Amino acid sequence: MIFETHAHYDDEKFDADRVELLSHLLKEKNIDKIVNVGASFRGCSDSYDLAQAYPSVYAAIGIHPENIEDYTQEAETWIREKAVDPKVVAIGEIGYDYNWVKDPEERKRQGQVFERQMELAIELGLPVIIHSRDAAEDTFNTIVRYNEQGLKGIVHCYSYSKELAIEYVKMGWLIGVGGVVTFKNGRKLRETVEAIPMESIVLETDCPYMAPEPHRGERNSSLFLPYVAKAIAEIKGLSVEEVESITYKNALSLFKKVKGNN
Ligand SMILES: [Zn+2]
Repeated sequence: MIFETHAHYDDEKFDADRVELLSHLLKEKNIDKIVNVGASFRGCSDSYDLAQAYPSVYAAIGIHPENIEDYTQEAETWIREKAVDPKVVAIGEIGYDYNWVKDPEERKRQGQVFERQMELAIELGLPVIIHSRDAAEDTFNTIVRYNEQGLKGIVHCYSYSKELAIEYVKMGWLIGVGGVVTFKNGRKLRETVEAIPMESIVLETDCPYMAPEPHRGERNSSLFLPYVAKAIAEIKGLSVEEVESITYKNALSLFKKVKGNN
């Protein structure tokens, strides 16, 4: 069975087949648990609704660094209220995105919203899902500080060095591995997968984005996760089933509200 730790089924690219996918198609293909991750305030609300509507879907709620203007008092109050729901399992995705944002003031504001939500996660007793692009050092420094207070989470769509990944693993954080591990130019991520223990890896799509080979460029969905598991299995010298079952357990150990089926 597969635990999909990062999907965006609220995206309009799923308007035509969202109901079929979430009500039975994914389940039939062994996709047992799905965390739908909010990025905007609207996305959080949609994730919450999907989690209420489908037994296998859970919600992560949080404001992405590209949408920090969404982080209002109203949004924070909403997150606080919904976080106690049994189907809300994490705060995310939150973090830094320096890929688009070059202005130092704007980056500072990203940091404020990120830290505010890290504090909220600690207060609410939930793990976090981290988005980090071109911001290795600031992300690491922030996580180290909150890790000291007991916070845990996933560094999603991990794109940094294997040395840094090892530092996260030492702190008990998980590394999110998706379609990039199958890409021709995904060597850096493959080296990371090789360098870290299997117990630190979780499967994710980031769908509708990041479809693995041989579907690169197409709309992604959790149905393509076996390609990701296969790439990891080849690196680790394991069977695809072993990769699926270990990563399933890893996700369960982080998302404490999710009850497993094995
Ligand atoms: Zn995402």
